[in-house]
Amino acid sequence: MEWVNFREIRARVSIGDVLTLYYGIDNLKVSGKVATGPCPVHGGDNPRGFHVDFDKNLWHCFTGCKKGGNQLDLVAAKDQVTVREAALRLKRFFLDNDPAPAVAAVDPTPLPPSGVRVPATPRKERDKPANPPLELTLQLLPDHPHIVEDRKLTAKTAAHFGIGYCSRGILAGCIGIPIHDEHGQLVAYAGRRLKFSDAEDLGKYRFPKGFHKDRLLYNLHRALPEADGEFGLVIVEGFFSAMFLHQVGVRSVVAVMGSELSDHQAALAARSRHVTVLFDGDPAGSVGALKAAEKLAPLTHVHVVLLPPDTEPEDCAPQLLHWLLTGARQQNLSSLAILTEPLSTLRAAAVPDIVH
Ligand SMILES: [Zn+2]
Repeated sequence: MEWVNFREIRARVSIGDVLTLYYGIDNLKVSGKVATGPCPVHGGDNPRGFHVDFDKNLWHCFTGCKKGGNQLDLVAAKDQVTVREAALRLKRFFLDNDPAPAVAAVDPTPLPPSGVRVPATPRKERDKPANPPLELTLQLLPDHPHIVEDRKLTAKTAAHFGIGYCSRGILAGCIGIPIHDEHGQLVAYAGRRLKFSDAEDLGKYRFPKGFHKDRLLYNLHRALPEADGEFGLVIVEGFFSAMFLHQVGVRSVVAVMGSELSDHQAALAARSRHVTVLFDGDPAGSVGALKAAEKLAPLTHVHVVLLPPDTEPEDCAPQLLHWLLTGARQQNLSSLAILTEPLSTLRAAAVPDIVH
């Protein structure tokens, strides 16, 4: 039986950590050392129903649950498990990757059930990979409207990338996106925030603490084996651009997860003999694309496709994308294919015959 020290967990994991990091709750109204909000335990909507005292590590629900307790009681009530199981969950989530010297003897065996595991920042950078493998997988629901309707992704594409809506844990309320390293090892989940106000305030994407996104290219393990094809390796900014390109037949696509290509990412991309940079058409994307090309030029053969302002790859018709990605290569154009026409014009224009 796994050993668990309740007192140690209560001392090292605050109720604030449990609410924000473990559950991803960010709708509490904080006022000094206390906060109020809708009760996350029973899912209430009374904005004053749930009280937290950060100093005393106590919570109380005055509406649905009509009870309260410490951080372990919170997890026990919300996850509907015993206090012991709650303690184990918090231990695995917060402490197993980060043992304090005094408790180094704590059994470090990695464990089964559910929950997200956040990879802690490696202590010895030289000895450990930047993004160590995750030992747990999240249960995600693939047929969420954000995926099917907003993103226009098919069930097949969602399944291929393993994405889906996450209803509990740190990514609750987000679309979870599994991220693998170049060897195909699952190393993290990113979360696309769906609540508009959260996306505005906190950014559209949530990455785990200690995750080094500059150390890998999203989808490289699937894309590289396909990069000898007609498109070479295509680099886009975001996860959903990569999924969209895949869906329209450009399988050799990777994403930098931002608008900058790091040196490490450039070295990874240069494993392909031909690379095309296809970033968004906003200023950050255009500047990022040109900088990326500069980094890649000494390493491999590189083209850049600059899209018109306010245009993302997802806005382009599939034929246009194919033409942009193959045309520059096949027609031996200069290394920069710059689109200045608005897309409406380009869509209307007859696409040359070289499109498959
Ligand atoms: Zn409640």
